[in-house]
Amino acid sequence: MVIVGHPDDADFGPAGAASAWIAAGAEGWLVCCTSGDAGGEDPNLDPLDLARAREDEQRRAAEIVGYAGVTFLHQPDGGLVNDLPLREMLVKEIRTFKPDAVFCGDPEVVIHDGGGINHTDHRAAAMAAVDAVYPAARNPMAFPWLMRDGLAAHRVRRLYLMWSNQPDVWIDVSATADRKIEALRSHASQLAEPEAVFARVRGRMSEQGERIGVASAEGYRLVVLDQDPEERSEAQVAGTTEKAGA
Ligand SMILES: [Zn+2]
Repeated sequence: MVIVGHPDDADFGPAGAASAWIAAGAEGWLVCCTSGDAGGEDPNLDPLDLARAREDEQRRAAEIVGYAGVTFLHQPDGGLVNDLPLREMLVKEIRTFKPDAVFCGDPEVVIHDGGGINHTDHRAAAMAAVDAVYPAARNPMAFPWLMRDGLAAHRVRRLYLMWSNQPDVWIDVSATADRKIEALRSHASQLAEPEAVFARVRGRMSEQGERIGVASAEGYRLVVLDQDPEERSEAQVAGTTEKAGA
């Protein structure tokens, strides 16, 4: 599951990894907290018209990436707040789709390494996603009415934080880099100079690829919440051996 602030964030973000995993048999779902109704330069533009257009763009991009579906939470663009109502909406999404892994922003990034302010909606969406994953989605006593409505607690095992200043894992997206660019192309309302943007995104992917010796990659900060059962037993065996050795 990918949780982001705006339509297009997921395609600038984890579209390469998402489409690679989906191509390999995973199921993906995208959650956009806002519909990008403030994503323009013209104050006379009807924000609802823009929101509709951007939802259409995101749905087209989501088809290219291969998500099973997209949820728009219709929160205000530029006014997203990590509050209890937003977290409840995200917990509902998580408990409905039951993802093993969630991709979201890194809530600790206010200023990107190399410059640039991380948009307030990106920060709010990232913090809300992290808080929804842990503890709320896995705690049956958080939003207890959800449980009574049949949405059982769910444990997300891994969080992949995109646009982080401290990436520590890289996912090979060499096979899906082109698809990521095609998905980005869907966001026509946001692309004044598409080719320049695509070149920048491709450059970033190949830069990241160099870290692991592949053509293209995306870097993430990984948070492991629950290890896979096999990994856990391996860790236990390792622990036992260590103790025996000591
Ligand atoms: Zn954005």
